[in-house]
Amino acid sequence: MKNIIFIAPPAAGKGTISKYLVDNFNYIHISTGELLRKVSKEETELGKHIASLINNGIFVSDELVLEIIKQELQKIKNKPFILDGIPRNIEQAEYIEQVFKELSVDNYIVINMEINVEALKKRATGRRLCNDCRLSYNVYFDKYKPQEENKCNNCHKDLIIRKDDSLEVFESRYQTYINITLPVINFYKNKGIISSINANQDNSEIIKEITNIIIGEFND
Ligand code: AMP
Repeated sequence: MKNIIFIAPPAAGKGTISKYLVDNFNYIHISTGELLRKVSKEETELGKHIASLINNGIFVSDELVLEIIKQELQKIKNKPFILDGIPRNIEQAEYIEQVFKELSVDNYIVINMEINVEALKKRATGRRLCNDCRLSYNVYFDKYKPQEENKCNNCHKDLIIRKDDSLEVFESRYQTYINITLPVINFYKNKGIISSINANQDNSEIIKEITNIIIGEFND
């Protein structure tokens, strides 16, 4: 089974799609954003520093992110994995290639989620998260609204808004994506291992496209 690297702009829905793949195909989900948010909650200088970077939509240093990702990849034993949130620049892409070589990972595909900026703005500014189980909602779409206002359907805890989902921070994160992350797509195009999907559609359609790609890949 192929490992997956997701490349997508902020708020494209990588987390939701990854959850589906974890639940249905037994993938391990490695999200650098989630890992860094965990560190950012620690009452340490490093935790506070990372919190302020994340809240302002600024990248954490390559050094730290790459150390974290290497540790996570080393923990995986015989299960397919999803990289969500990394690589975000060419240096990270090159480092991941190197770690994959060291760990003998050669079976992977890259999925590029293409989505227009207006859809992204709604997904970011309408996103609400359960602080407990991390289920994700969106107040702009009836289908994804919580049943009870601002409460998680699953565990009934309060929902939170990520600070970096404000319109202002979203716009800065999006510009960084265009300037710094988009070249990563060409990096993988040159290797011939990238598939693009239309992520403007509803999640069920996105999941169908991705399932077709990975099922095609399973049959390789
Ligand atoms: P995400 O949940 O993927 O949107 O990531 C949230 C935030 O975590 C980003 O805006 C960055 O501040 C930080 N972050 C996540 N992944 C990386 C990465 N690969 N390199 C640098 N910073 C990252």
